[in-house]
Amino acid sequence: MSGDRVFLRRRFSAMKRRETQDRELKHVAEWRNWSGSVVAQASAIEKPRTEAELQRLVAAARKVRVAGAGHSFMPICATDGLLLSLLDLEVALEVAEDRRTVWVPAGWPIGKLTDALWALGFSLINQGDINKQAIAGAVSTATHGTGRTLGSLATAAEGFRLVLADGSVVECDREREPDLFQAARVSLGMLGVVTRIKLKVLPAYRLKETLWRQSLASALAEWDQLADSHRHIEFFHFPYSEHVNMKTLDVVEAGDSPDPGEFEDTVFQAVCDLVTVWPRTAPTLQRMLTRAIRGSERAGPAGRIFPSERNVKFEEMEYEIPAANGPAALKEAMNLVRDKRWPIIFPFEFRTVAADDIWLSPMSGTACVSISFHQYAKMDWKTPFAGVEKVFQAAGGRPHWAKRHTLTSADVLRLYPDAPKFGAVRKRIDPGGKFLNDHLSELFAFSL
Ligand SMILES: Cc1cc2nc3c(=O)[nH]c(=O)nc-3n(C[C@H](O)[C@H](O)[C@H](O)COP(=O)(O)OP(=O)(O)OC[C@H]3O[C@@H](n4cnc5c(N)ncnc54)[C@H](O)[C@@H]3O)c2cc1C
Repeated sequence: MSGDRVFLRRRFSAMKRRETQDRELKHVAEWRNWSGSVVAQASAIEKPRTEAELQRLVAAARKVRVAGAGHSFMPICATDGLLLSLLDLEVALEVAEDRRTVWVPAGWPIGKLTDALWALGFSLINQGDINKQAIAGAVSTATHGTGRTLGSLATAAEGFRLVLADGSVVECDREREPDLFQAARVSLGMLGVVTRIKLKVLPAYRLKETLWRQSLASALAEWDQLADSHRHIEFFHFPYSEHVNMKTLDVVEAGDSPDPGEFEDTVFQAVCDLVTVWPRTAPTLQRMLTRAIRGSERAGPAGRIFPSERNVKFEEMEYEIPAANGPAALKEAMNLVRDKRWPIIFPFEFRTVAADDIWLSPMSGTACVSISFHQYAKMDWKTPFAGVEKVFQAAGGRPHWAKRHTLTSADVLRLYPDAPKFGAVRKRIDPGGKFLNDHLSELFAFSL
């Protein structure tokens, strides 16, 4: 080939590359997560209505991520490629013949799902603090509630329908494509776009919530006995207070309380803003908040009692810690906050989660307590998170994938004995890394 022709061919390829880049840049769409700490410039944001449209979009794209409700604090949805939302995807809710499992639309917010399930006579086995997440987003990150005998939402998943990188569709469960199923149970969206999830459910049930205040010392001393005698239990502990706000949920036959108002959120927002300008008030305000949260009871359909409103924006780190190490880890983290005089205004949240057998679950093989550490989104969270993360790691903890952590690929391999199995499936299913972004490519470098 003559030098001129090589030159022309290179010019032509460069022009084509620029054209493609220009086309993508023209469609740059900004995306932010719930707390505002993750910002992505996607080449396009699409909301397909049909599976066929979704297949075409995935097959044609260079890079793809799916966002549920964007409630993750780590950049696990971020992409400079195509960002998908499944909110408008038309998928049927389908109850299995045995009435123990239901195929659910993966993009539905949990609140929409629990309302639809209630109307059909079902409830989810367990739920977390809020019900805004897409069910696929929650399952993909091992989102959990609390309860000594209860696992994360991912443990309820019995099957997945996925659109893969080439646009093909596959269904997997314990019999069909069992390795893909095991990997998909907690996958951070690295295998493909989940369009339907087969979830284990329970006959519809009501819950009674009971709140009370007690000393931190007695809460930790009685923790085992309390956790054994309530279906769900957790406490909130403001680190400058000597008390905790305890919360339990138990199954009841009847009862319907009115929805709580938004008064507390408005007051809390004002308190957070006050601490932002006057950090030294944090300890006093924390003690006041602990006292202000009064004992109370309410009851109703499980899907309505599990979630709370979380309107004040925060940043969060959470580690799942072997249960026996939990109380000591909490006390050490509390003492660190006090020693450093960090102006934290949010409480620690202390929960319990059952062990499971999911390759990438932080509860894999270990019954855990879950300790969450929050900071008001407008204040410095990096310094206190760095300090407390060391405490949680020394206690043998593994982080919630969706919440702030600083793990490396080597840490993932050290902490997760089954990570290589996940890596092998990821590499087989998406060898070109269409579903990876920068953060996930680094964290799962062993699977490239
Ligand atoms: C106010 C608040 C309260 C919270 N409470 C709890 C709690 O009680 N317990 C707890 O464990 N966590 C909690 N979290 C964390 C939250 O549950 C997780 O971040 C969860 O992943 C968010 O769901 P999402 O729909 O917003 O997912 P996103 O953040 O949008 O996505 C999470 C992951 O799922 C992937 N994904 C989403 N949809 C699909 C799909 N259809 N196919 C393939 N991949 C997909 C994304 O690519 C990403 O990797 C809370 C977060 C906030 C902000």
